[in-house]
Amino acid sequence: MSLRTRVSLKAVRLGYASTSLRSMMYGSTVLSRTYVSQTPSQNNTAVGTMPVMNMRSSSSLEEDQPPSSVNYLKTLSKKELFSLGMIGCVTLNKFTLDLAIKVFPFVPVFLIKWLISALYCGGDNPKEVRECGENLQKRGISNMMLSLTIEDSEGVKNIDINYIVKETIKSVHEVLKPNLLKQLETAVDVNDVAPGYIALKPSALVANPSEVLLNFKNEAWMAQREELINNCSAVTQVIYDLNQELLKKYPSRQAPFFVATIDAEKYDLQMGVYELQRILFEKFNPQSSPIVSCIGTWQLYLTDSAQELQTEYERAKKEGYKLGLKLVRGAYIHSEPNRDAIIQPTKEASDVNYNNVITTVIEDLLAKGSKSTYGHLVVASHNYHSQMLATKLLEEKGSAAGKHNVVLGQLLGMADNVTYDLITNHGVKNIIKYVPWGPPLETKDYLLRRLQENGDAVRADNGLPLLKSIAKSIFAKSA
Ligand SMILES: Cc1cc2nc3c(=O)[nH]c(=O)nc-3n(C[C@H](O)[C@H](O)[C@H](O)COP(=O)(O)OP(=O)(O)OC[C@H]3O[C@@H](n4cnc5c(N)ncnc54)[C@H](O)[C@@H]3O)c2cc1C
Repeated sequence: MSLRTRVSLKAVRLGYASTSLRSMMYGSTVLSRTYVSQTPSQNNTAVGTMPVMNMRSSSSLEEDQPPSSVNYLKTLSKKELFSLGMIGCVTLNKFTLDLAIKVFPFVPVFLIKWLISALYCGGDNPKEVRECGENLQKRGISNMMLSLTIEDSEGVKNIDINYIVKETIKSVHEVLKPNLLKQLETAVDVNDVAPGYIALKPSALVANPSEVLLNFKNEAWMAQREELINNCSAVTQVIYDLNQELLKKYPSRQAPFFVATIDAEKYDLQMGVYELQRILFEKFNPQSSPIVSCIGTWQLYLTDSAQELQTEYERAKKEGYKLGLKLVRGAYIHSEPNRDAIIQPTKEASDVNYNNVITTVIEDLLAKGSKSTYGHLVVASHNYHSQMLATKLLEEKGSAAGKHNVVLGQLLGMADNVTYDLITNHGVKNIIKYVPWGPPLETKDYLLRRLQENGDAVRADNGLPLLKSIAKSIFAKSA
């Protein structure tokens, strides 16, 4: 077995051990949804590109072991352990999971809220989400990527998009702003506090989103396209203005204070989303500004992703704006109709592409600092191997602005053992959680979908192993 193959296989094992709860959540169609996959690493038949992994990084990663959940679980309250125990019971086997999925719609909202919502959702309203932010701070997680979860995938709820835009802007003022300002006032170094993010899902910010994104350059759809751009711009403008205002007050800050984040969609919609991102980058990320206000998402399980990003990089450089990236592996592997044609042939290939691209971006940011065309990077992953790769690269010498513009991100309630390990054992400060929030009925739908989408994927790190870890942590606490 070649070194590269061994490294890749190890990466897969580490990645799959990274969280105990991952099978609860998955990609979905919400304003800003939660995306996690525990896809088995079987091959498909695609002929994909597989960039060669950086050997220096890969050999040092051989030493990284996935962290045990027990240390993290020891920090939880009895109530939280009870809720996690419920998840452990539900995911004991396929039968219990299927049963839970069937019963779930009949469970009253108040019970769902009491039992599990707090593990995965920030709350129903800004006050509760602020409290969630305060609790995260106690764990060493200085900020959040907020995602208003109002679902209407069937288009039956007649949701008022203006309301979504208004509520999203409200969450900047009433959640992200107080959360950040309080920390900046007392911070020894203002760069130690991660930015606050707003996740914007293009398909939730315009009526008939699929058609609008598919026809993004079609004259006949210009009015709807403008509406989508205006809705995203309305939120990003608020963020841009706050960034400029706060930069005057805190001139030593080298990273954005707030960031609008465009989420990635299914492949056929992505051409429209890339174009939307470009328009927002041009408007809100001028090369002349030391900080960006908008980032887009690239899904590195796509075979053309590295090339796509390279093309965007060259275009941005030529046209005088910065990119801003959230890098993910990609959430739609189960539902992409042309999976074999567009997605990497194996899990290992996705891992190699992901690690290769984050290495390239981080090295560029470290070398060029505020002059880097990449602008800002969120390493959005639960994969321990990838997060350790980023963390180790950031330990190397390089521009401080470069370092402060790389932030690690996981979903609330997911990969908490990874988050805990990065903070406790590796001194990581540049870390955030993706926090879905919204009306209880919406978040109930959202939690159910997470269960349904994972009905075939009871993971080895849920069920009994999770219950055992909880028992160990209770025993260790009382010992
Ligand atoms: C903060 C945050 C924001 C996110 N935003 C988005 C978003 O906007 N759009 C989006 O699509 N996703 C998004 N995601 C989800 C992301 O795409 C990943 O799917 C998810 O996090 C699981 O991957 P992982 O990196 O955690 O690692 P792992 O669990 O190590 O990897 C699992 C992933 O590997 C890939 N994979 C698995 N099997 C195969 C195979 N046989 N062949 C090829 N590839 C395979 C798939 O992408 C799968 O999801 C986000 C995640 C986070 C944490």
